[in-house]
Amino acid sequence: MPRLLIQLESAMGETRVAASPDTVKKFLSLGSKVAIERGAGLAAGFVDAVYGNVGAELVTPGDEQFWGQTDLLLCVHAPSEISLQKLRPGATIVGLLAPYSNSALAAALKSAKLSAMALELLPRISRAQSADALSSQANIAGYKAVLLAAAALDRYFPMLMTAAGTVQPARVVVLGAGVAGLQAVATAKRLGAVVYVSDVRSAVKEQVESLGARFIDPPEIEQRPDESGGYAKQASEAFLAAQREQLSNQLAQADVVICTAQVPGRKAPRLISDLMLDRMRPGAVVVDLAVEQGGNCANTRPGETVDRNGVKLIGASDLPCSVPNHASALYSRNLVALLEPVLKDGQLSLNIEDELIAGCLISHNGEIRHNNVFNMGGSN
Ligand code: NAD
Repeated sequence: MPRLLIQLESAMGETRVAASPDTVKKFLSLGSKVAIERGAGLAAGFVDAVYGNVGAELVTPGDEQFWGQTDLLLCVHAPSEISLQKLRPGATIVGLLAPYSNSALAAALKSAKLSAMALELLPRISRAQSADALSSQANIAGYKAVLLAAAALDRYFPMLMTAAGTVQPARVVVLGAGVAGLQAVATAKRLGAVVYVSDVRSAVKEQVESLGARFIDPPEIEQRPDESGGYAKQASEAFLAAQREQLSNQLAQADVVICTAQVPGRKAPRLISDLMLDRMRPGAVVVDLAVEQGGNCANTRPGETVDRNGVKLIGASDLPCSVPNHASALYSRNLVALLEPVLKDGQLSLNIEDELIAGCLISHNGEIRHNNVFNMGGSN
């Protein structure tokens, strides 16, 4: 019978947990034994007693005996290298392991002979949608980014006709129309804003327009970036320069800019320069979701709000942690969708021929399988 352990997250500011009481119930029904570290769900609104009531065993965080007996460790972030050494050789960890340029993780997995599934690398195929943790968390980030912007803005979002006269709707520009960007568009529209969207993938034009926003066609220059597997590839510097020039006028008229443009494993494209910020009106707000990857906007800093001549620059890292209950519930369901086939018939078996498993299995019993990912370095 496979033994699952759900860890108490130790990363600073992390409020999520990798299993909800509902998903613990599901794992038990699949024939697994489930242990959870005390307090693991507290910040997400799931108290220990509820996990106990559904049949989980509550254990002391970091207990060596439990770690040593664990077959499958469910986590949001990778445990520390010291904790990884407590797992027995052949055990598997699953989570958002941030593999890009994380050579320390690769070394720890190798020396402890562990298997590891990094959810960031799940292939973007239809079958993987229910397991796609990047999407479930990006959706939350897009939603919350707009709420932060609305709270910081010196204006209303909706058009209002009042006894004191009419108020024009806020003008919102969303950069990048992936999962976070599209949710930002939908949320800003629900609040009544007029929304403009820039993306390099022409396929998103229709999606943007179906949400009632206006698409800013990418600049017509030769080096337009390709896409692969649904992701944009990195744009050339010439393309980005043309894009900044095109966006400069849009931003000068904007009340809010939500930055979500990213290229996996790379530094985020720099779409807003100092000169562009100089043209924005005091009172405007920029929320940069790409801040941890270097930022779409100049001068944004992770977790900080910078006032730049009256323009508020919000470096919005870790937004899913600000909605921990739903973020955890959805993340937990993603893990069930991924692991249900792995845990069938009361056995844990990783079918490395399966496209989903093969795509995200970065280490198999300590053998590193995605060296290219570990060596990407998050560079330009
Ligand atoms: P992402 O977070 O990697 O990037 C966000 C957006 O930034 C993308 O739309 C990208 O095109 C855009 N971008 C990159 N460079 C830009 C630039 N210079 N200017 C403006 N925009 C730029 O994206 P994501 O949310 O992970 O989604 C990527 C794609 O994968 C989408 O088409 C999404 O629908 C698809 N997807 C598929 C599945 C599935 O089928 N299982 C699951 C999730 C997402």
